[in-house]
Amino acid sequence: MVLQKDFFDLPEGMIYLDGNSLGPLPKLAKTRVAAVMQDEWGTQLIKGWNVAGWMAQPSLIGDAIGRLLGASEGTVVLGDTLSIKVYQAISAGINMRPNRRIILSDSGNFPSDLYIAQGLLRSLGQNYELRIVDPEDVVTSIDETVAVVLLTEVDYRTGRLHDMIEITKRAHSVGSVMIWDLAHSAGAIPIDLEKSRCEFAVGCTYKYLNGGPGAPAFIYVRKDLSDEIDPILTGWLGHDKPFDFDLEYRPARGVERMRVGTPPVLQMAALSAALEIWEHINIFELRSKSIALQELFIQQVEARVPGLNLVSPRESANRGSQVSFSFENGYAVMQALIAQGVIGDFRAPNVMRFGFTPLFIDEADVIRAVDHLERIIKDQIWDDHKYLTRQRVT
Ligand SMILES: *Cc1c(COP(=O)(O)O)cnc(C)c1O
Repeated sequence: MVLQKDFFDLPEGMIYLDGNSLGPLPKLAKTRVAAVMQDEWGTQLIKGWNVAGWMAQPSLIGDAIGRLLGASEGTVVLGDTLSIKVYQAISAGINMRPNRRIILSDSGNFPSDLYIAQGLLRSLGQNYELRIVDPEDVVTSIDETVAVVLLTEVDYRTGRLHDMIEITKRAHSVGSVMIWDLAHSAGAIPIDLEKSRCEFAVGCTYKYLNGGPGAPAFIYVRKDLSDEIDPILTGWLGHDKPFDFDLEYRPARGVERMRVGTPPVLQMAALSAALEIWEHINIFELRSKSIALQELFIQQVEARVPGLNLVSPRESANRGSQVSFSFENGYAVMQALIAQGVIGDFRAPNVMRFGFTPLFIDEADVIRAVDHLERIIKDQIWDDHKYLTRQRVT
């Protein structure tokens, strides 16, 4: 059984095609956070770090996420935001290849990953260079000068899926370190990190993992490396003995050295509740269902809605769990859709993005969403100043 609509607290009548950007609220998260506030924070106060096990959460929840990623126990830890985890992975990767100066990424990457790389390289000086190529040119651009390959597996705009195994193999064949950003993969598609052999992987937990806005990010470090890598954000909770309060930093054993500071306990409580759903989900079944929903959506839109162009790969094997169409007035169309309770989003310059999350979306939702889309375009309902004015978050 894939559909678990009852697990979520979705507003009546809403068709939520944006679980790729912010997952909906799991009912269990609501009660769990309330209980942690009352029974732990409210009652135990500072004793909660030990008694309620707050300090161990980043590793325990890391292992739960690791199971979804084909990562072995003790290789994943939670904390901070994804942008920070990207910084840690790149800096550790660079230090593993001290004689190389190129970080390779692609133009399909999410800008924050590129901005973080740019800021880090600026602080390093020493002729480091971020090289950004087209997604199709990634494989041929990886050569012996590349220290680190930094890629997001699923393109946030088009849903285009990179071949994780092939690209990692290519990176390793010339001695480059491989970092995968799984922001749009975790909880959406099957992943096998141990099989890929990549050195690092990172991702966020508020998209398909439904951990809630501001939920902490994760980082994976391949087991054979975690005692070797040199953490650059050397916060006290990544220290071997934080409560010795030494004046000198000494890294913790294993992936715990990628922790930085105090974990967000309430966010972790919401996330740990959200993750319980995965104990009932077969990710391969979820993937087949997601593809079926996407195929239905594409077929319906192309048959019924004129003027929209598919910008996602047509071949389902090359797509993550979202479908994007371009339309000149895509922003206004999306606003009109949202007004009808069909929630997708818009990415500049003209892309309407629809996420398919079979945990709470079914075929009837897809058909109803296209009904609305068809009417909004055919009757030009979008052509109204209330839909044409851009808001801060699109
Ligand atoms: C969503 C996303 C981010 C967001 O990073 P935050 O630090 O959580 O704001 C970064 N990178 C990618 C690839 C993303 O998809």
